[in-house]
Amino acid sequence: MPRSHTKIVIATGNRGKLREIASLLADLGVEVVAQADLGVAPPEETGTTFVENALQKARHAARATGLPAIADDSGLVVAALDGRPGVWSARYAGPAADDAANNAKLLRELEGVRDRSAHFHCAAVFVRDENDPEPVITEASWHGEIAAAEEGTGGFGYDPLFRVPGRGCTSAELTAEEKNALSHRGQAMRALHDRLRAKFRA
Ligand code: IMP
Repeated sequence: MPRSHTKIVIATGNRGKLREIASLLADLGVEVVAQADLGVAPPEETGTTFVENALQKARHAARATGLPAIADDSGLVVAALDGRPGVWSARYAGPAADDAANNAKLLRELEGVRDRSAHFHCAAVFVRDENDPEPVITEASWHGEIAAAEEGTGGFGYDPLFRVPGRGCTSAELTAEEKNALSHRGQAMRALHDRLRAKFRA
C-alpha cells in the first residue's frame, strides 16, 4: 500500500485513545482520523469475546467510511467472579453506568473474597475494508489485583481499583506514559503497530 495516500479510521470516540494511537502509528506514514469526526456513531457491541467486539467495531467503521479501520475492545476479567465483568466492563452496573457505579459494584461483589486476582485484556484489530478476510488481530493482558478501596485519581474506569504488581500503587496512580508501557492496550497496540509496519512500509 503506498504510504502517502493511506488514511485509516480509528473506531473510537475517545480523544485520548485517538492521540495515543496516532502517536504510536506516526512512523508508518499513515493519516489517522476518528470515526466521530466523520459522523460515524459506534455500533452495538454484541460479541461474547473482546476479539468479536473489536472486529465488529472495525468492520462497522470501514463500512461507514470506505477506509481501512483500527478498533480495540478491552475490559477487566476478575478470577473470583468467573471472569466478570469481562466484555460487559463498561456496562457492569447497568446500561448507563458510570465508572463510580461500576467500581462500587465490583467492590460489593468482592466483599469478603480473598482471591483478588484480575487482569485487563485488550484485543486490537485492523481491517483493510469491511469484508477483509484476513484482519490483523493482536491481544494482550495486564495482570494485577483488585484493591480493597479506590486509590488514585488518574486514568479511567477501573484504574483506581487495579493494583499493579511490584509498583505498590494502582493504575490510577501511574503517569500516562508508565501506564501505556505496561497496559493491555499499550501492549496490544504496539503489537498491532509491528504487524502493520510490514504492510505499510514503503
Ligand atoms: P472499551 O475498550 O473502550 O470498550 O472499554 C471497556 C471498559 O473496560 C471501559 O469502559 C472500562 O470500564 C474498562 N477498561 C478498559 N481498559 C481499561 C483501563 O485501562 N483502565 C480501567 N478500565 C479499563
